[in-house]
Amino acid sequence: MVDKKCVTGIQIFIPPTKPDSVKKTPLTRIIDYIEHKFHIDIIIIGWGDNPLLYEECLRKARIHNTQVYFWYPVLSEIPNFQSSFQVVGYNKSKVISEWLTDTGEHFLFACPNSRKFESLLKKNFESLSKKLRNSGYNGVFLDRIRYYSPASGLLSTFCCFCQGCLRKAEHMGIDLNKARVQLGQLIKEISKIKASQVPKQSKALNTLFSSFKENQIINDYLHFKFNSIKEVIERAREMFCKNELKIGLDCFTPSFASITGQNYSYLFKYADWIKPMFYIKTFAPAGIPYEIKSIVEGLIEINRDLREESVLSFLQDHFHYGLPCSVNEIYQKGGVSEEIIAKDVLLAKKQTEAGFPIYGGVETISVRGICEPDPSKLKQSIWYLQKYADGIVLCWDMFSTPEENIDLVAEALK
Ligand SMILES: [Zn+2]
Repeated sequence: MVDKKCVTGIQIFIPPTKPDSVKKTPLTRIIDYIEHKFHIDIIIIGWGDNPLLYEECLRKARIHNTQVYFWYPVLSEIPNFQSSFQVVGYNKSKVISEWLTDTGEHFLFACPNSRKFESLLKKNFESLSKKLRNSGYNGVFLDRIRYYSPASGLLSTFCCFCQGCLRKAEHMGIDLNKARVQLGQLIKEISKIKASQVPKQSKALNTLFSSFKENQIINDYLHFKFNSIKEVIERAREMFCKNELKIGLDCFTPSFASITGQNYSYLFKYADWIKPMFYIKTFAPAGIPYEIKSIVEGLIEINRDLREESVLSFLQDHFHYGLPCSVNEIYQKGGVSEEIIAKDVLLAKKQTEAGFPIYGGVETISVRGICEPDPSKLKQSIWYLQKYADGIVLCWDMFSTPEENIDLVAEALK
């Protein structure tokens, strides 16, 4: 069906709170099982502490001529998290939003401009880089390179105004205090939209989501946010490049990325490839249906007069996604349409330069209540990625991926 080479990757998650729950034999079995069906070009593995497992993964990779990337969460899942790392919201309070999972992930984010965190990150990058080079890894896969997403509460996305951010912005000639006040005003305006009014006609809503370029203050604020995330990757590039390690990035799907401070056009120069998380049926952070649900809930929380249907219609116009009339329907349909993948790969391509590799992340896991299996969606997603992207990454954990899904991917790849 396609004549170009489509890179195939898999993700293997070692839970940081119970790293020993994952054993060597099942890992070997999974790799062998997949390799028997199709060649694995890239393995992304991390981040819990289980040296034996990493050794085994590297050993298998050498046999199969597979590249191994160490999966590293940059701005969240930080041991000994200090309050000075915390992100500060538009209302000057520290954002403490947490999203606890049974894998022990808490999604508590640090601000990359916090001075103390900045120096800690520098040390971490340095030691990780040396460790990976000495252990035979090909690269590092950077995850959680962003600010809060709507899943942590819509208002928590309007950040960061910590001292570190204010200082850095000032050097760039940007007055973040103005942005803080402006955000407060826009939110206030949203709270006053009348029940009879159509949300898409609200100037405030459009400024926040679609037409921020027309508002210099908000435009500067977003530029500052994008730049702050870019600088993290730039620093990583410097550090990992010294040890000849490549960099892969885990990013929100491009339509959503800017809400979290990610902008592909700022990031791609410092990475070897980007994996957009095309999670169309995940009801958890970074899952498109869950993030949409969180925006809807967040806006209704700001203004009880807003109706779900009209908010979804506004979001449909903004994202250019086909969305149903209610959040309930998104759940009933098991997520959003796979056509989003085709649209967003093209958007990712537009925001990067010709030939820059986009390896689309598709959900192959099956976790009750979070990501239910849907053979037809998976098959269609693979089809779109083969057609438009440069590769496919099976997400986000092969230990939670049923063999039927691997068989299905193998069948679709033929
Ligand atoms: Zn900050």
